[in-house]
Amino acid sequence: MTPYSKGIHHITSIVGDPQENVDFYGNVLGMRMTKKTVNHDDPETYHLYFSNGQADPGTHITFFPWEGAMRGRVGDGQVGVTVYAVPKGSLEFWKHRLKTFDIDFSLEKRFGKTYLRFHDPHGLVLELSERETGKLSSYTYGDIDQAHAIKGFDGVVLYSLSPSETAQLLVDVLGFKKAKEDARHIRLVSDGEFGDTVDIKRTLDEKGFQGTGTVHHIAWRTQDDASQQTLQSTLNDQSYHVTPVIDRKYFHSIYFRERGKILFEIATDGPGFDVDEPFEALGESLTLPERYEPYRARIEQILKPLEVPRGKLSTD
Ligand code: ZN
Repeated sequence: MTPYSKGIHHITSIVGDPQENVDFYGNVLGMRMTKKTVNHDDPETYHLYFSNGQADPGTHITFFPWEGAMRGRVGDGQVGVTVYAVPKGSLEFWKHRLKTFDIDFSLEKRFGKTYLRFHDPHGLVLELSERETGKLSSYTYGDIDQAHAIKGFDGVVLYSLSPSETAQLLVDVLGFKKAKEDARHIRLVSDGEFGDTVDIKRTLDEKGFQGTGTVHHIAWRTQDDASQQTLQSTLNDQSYHVTPVIDRKYFHSIYFRERGKILFEIATDGPGFDVDEPFEALGESLTLPERYEPYRARIEQILKPLEVPRGKLSTD
């Protein structure tokens, strides 16, 4: 079978202070921190993961907290907006919750749907959108019960420098289908439970630059190593410069820059996040890639300790 993608695997963004990051995603948004590890290329900085309770593909947002890094600018050539799915009927709850934390928001419309837009403390653009389909999160935090908890990604808005080429790549190689189109966006869809809706902004605005408050890359799901290899050679045939497969411990990855200048990754669904700690305790201890284990004591000394908000995980 020709490989295709079920949608988003994870989204990785650059932020500032790690504690501020954890407070926002763990406390304000009430997401489960499922991995506390280090940047594979820079083991003296954290790499933090948040997801739904089940740690499903299509629900992971990951962060490189680079304190003191320059503030970036969200713009063309980047993932512009990260969109989360919340249960049907929960947007009012979220408006109220954002107000409680003094967070400004606006209401956006795309293809007749309402999106609650706001920024995280480091400038990332986020939206919440109600979604009936897709399982509820098994993780609850404080007032955020199952009827309100973030389920996973709804999708993204891509700010491509070449919207039609980006759309073509997602359709031709990753198997997305064109669902809708208007003057502002092209909507592509896949068939994943989450992260299956990609809106590509059609008009060009200011070019973005990388730094705090911007998305570093977006990873698309692929089933296994074999399908990843097929995608890799298809992309190479189309003159994309694709990296070799890189072992990210929890998944295997290839990277390339698409023609609209957004950094894309294709990541396998497995081996999964419970390869180095029990599912119930995900994110509770610092996990390291094997090659950094000999330096654990030093790394632990350098990293700032984090206070992680912890909610309840239901296991039924
Ligand atoms: Zn990644």
